[in-house]
Amino acid sequence: MKDAHGRVIDYLRISLTDRCNFRCIYCMPEDGVCQLAHDQILRIEEIEQLVAVAASIGIKSIRLTGGEPLVRKGVVDLVRSITSTPGIENVSMTTNGVLLPAMADELKQAGLSRVNISLDTLDPEQFREITRVGKLEDTLAGIDAALAAGFDPVKVNAVTVRRLDQDFLAFAKLSLERPLHVRFIEYMPVGTSSGADGCGWGKEDVIPSEELFAIINERAVSEGLPELQAAGKNQPIGWGPARYFEFPGAQGTVGFISPLSRHFCSECNRLRLTADGKVRPCLFSDTEYDVREALRTGGETAVREVLYEALGAKPDEHHDKVGTERNMSQIGG
Ligand code: SAM
Ligand code: SF4
Repeated sequence: MKDAHGRVIDYLRISLTDRCNFRCIYCMPEDGVCQLAHDQILRIEEIEQLVAVAASIGIKSIRLTGGEPLVRKGVVDLVRSITSTPGIENVSMTTNGVLLPAMADELKQAGLSRVNISLDTLDPEQFREITRVGKLEDTLAGIDAALAAGFDPVKVNAVTVRRLDQDFLAFAKLSLERPLHVRFIEYMPVGTSSGADGCGWGKEDVIPSEELFAIINERAVSEGLPELQAAGKNQPIGWGPARYFEFPGAQGTVGFISPLSRHFCSECNRLRLTADGKVRPCLFSDTEYDVREALRTGGETAVREVLYEALGAKPDEHHDKVGTERNMSQIGG
């Protein structure tokens, strides 16, 4: 399935819920978002139907996200059903990790291929400041549980924000002893949680990946470590816009994702589905297509039409737009 700009679109990110057990300051307002009513949220069977239609027109990879996908009731069964959908080759998940100690084994057995765990700091106080309610030890336990359950790769995604002054080398060093793939993601000033309406962070808080790469190498050398080199056989599988490096001899890798300093729009391969059943052609654009109505009243042909309509509306690039009507927790990151 190709879009109007010749890009092959074979990846669908599905937000399972707008609810979350954290309240990260760049993602959600402190008192949470105005939660969707029960009947506004796609039912599990509706998501399954949508995935079947999406697979029939060329979607091969699904990522489950949110809000926090693991707080959605029925998520393990959904993973099982999506993995057995003809045409779907892999199902992955982005999570804050808190519920992984309880759920990693059953998710693995259900066929989940990969997990990305979000973690922005290794400092317990800063973790609380960023997530407002979370405990660092819970997310660290989630990482341990993902490795113990045999997920491979396990990626740790850290949003980098200039004013937070995170210890980036400490993060990069997580890749030394264990097969962890640390990925630094430039902060994106989207949603009402960012910018003037939210935490007050804006474009000046974006640390371009190139600058970050130099910071990490400089600090590594000052600690007697070698510099990062292009990743070899340790490079993790899984489509993604990251560029990967590694410390010589390390078990894992260090990746950089640069949605702002180095647009990867020309390689964009995805559509997004919000928890309330809107297909979003681009993270940075508020244009959405209602597939919930098509699922509830139209049937397979109507669903396919909505997907094609959204596909046809994918912009060539995001043109550095700042702010969107929906927060990340509602779009799914
Ligand atoms: N709750 C899950 C989690 O945190 O992994 C999944 C949903 S969360 C919205 C998905 C990803 O979006 C997380 O890695 C999060 O750090 C990232 N994210 C949220 N707001 C962001 C922002 N303003 N800029 C960059 N990444 C952001
Ligand atoms: Fe929740 Fe993930 Fe958003 Fe944090 S980034 S508030 S964990 S949805």
